[in-house]
Amino acid sequence: MQARSDAVLVPPVLPRADVQAMEGYHSPQVSVRVRLNTNESPEAPPAGWQELLADEVAGIDFHRYPDRSAHELREAIGALHGVGPEWVFVANGSNEVLQTLCLTYGGHGRTALTFEPTYAMHAQIARVSGATVIEAERADDFTLSPEVVDRCIDEHHPDIIFLCSPNNPTGLIEPPELVARVVERAPGLVVVDEAYGQFAPWSAQSLLDEGKALAVTRTYSKTWAMAAARLGYVIAPPWMIAELDKVVLPYHLDSMKQAAGLLALRFEPEMRERVRRLVAERERLVSALGRLDVHVWPSSSNFVLFRPQSVDADVVWQRLVDRSVLVRNCSSWPRLAGCLRVTIGTPAEDDEFLGALQEALA
Ligand SMILES: *Cc1c(COP(=O)(O)O)cnc(C)c1O
Repeated sequence: MQARSDAVLVPPVLPRADVQAMEGYHSPQVSVRVRLNTNESPEAPPAGWQELLADEVAGIDFHRYPDRSAHELREAIGALHGVGPEWVFVANGSNEVLQTLCLTYGGHGRTALTFEPTYAMHAQIARVSGATVIEAERADDFTLSPEVVDRCIDEHHPDIIFLCSPNNPTGLIEPPELVARVVERAPGLVVVDEAYGQFAPWSAQSLLDEGKALAVTRTYSKTWAMAAARLGYVIAPPWMIAELDKVVLPYHLDSMKQAAGLLALRFEPEMRERVRRLVAERERLVSALGRLDVHVWPSSSNFVLFRPQSVDADVVWQRLVDRSVLVRNCSSWPRLAGCLRVTIGTPAEDDEFLGALQEALA
């Protein structure tokens, strides 16, 4: 390989014009003691799961392709949600699920609608698919009004509408009536991203219906404490799942991952217990934040959005990093000026964060 010494190399080929204009996904992976920036579980999965997985991996026929349909895994996930395997599509993280949905129902000449601020990957993945993205606005308190929904649908006839409940990065949950209204009125696909679904008091899965174009996505990355495994899925009517199966790459789910996902479901009670602990810890963190000089948004998730009132958010973020605490700096994101987002950690990590924040705000 020939390295060039030129300071500025002009690439000999350029990507698509729309890709040139993109910024990509940025979330700094800084080496710190307390990592509260990506909404992972602060606890590892159960030791029993790790042991079972090691045995299972030892028995894999590595010279063979994995089960292409991931049938056992789909069946088990379906059973968890009270549906058959034909309602389930699994991929490498829910981001790949979202990508497959966008490749199937989005693409060039089609339109996707998001309600900002929300998970940036919805717009990003839709754009990569070639779709035009309409970014509609939530109210100042980050809620979404039925009027805005109706107006956007009438105006843009979107092929895909994204909702995220609980919403990242605000932590707010969409009310059932609002999601039902979107599903009723949408001319195309409605995707409800429930990456934090187990933290929420209700799920859009209750609205699923063979005759409705509703897809509800979930991930193993957060509540299942398996971010490293890259596993996510969608529950949707069988006619939609069949289309996704056409679009996704063959054998996209490796055998280790299928085993990991399947075995994890045996530890559902442990997952529920972990979620319960995190919710209790979240309540403790929210009330502690309430005593500091910050504005705090209510959260139905495992993270909390807050805005320092008197000290610049970038300064607060850097002071936290200096104390080896990493939170997500949202202050330069559109509509989130001055905001930071902290993931719920272990009680010890959260105490460290709170101590560091108190100093950072002084
Ligand atoms: C974390 C997160 C995901 C997870 O993506 P994976 O690819 O499953 O890790 C999806 N949606 C939202 C809103 C998230 O916050």
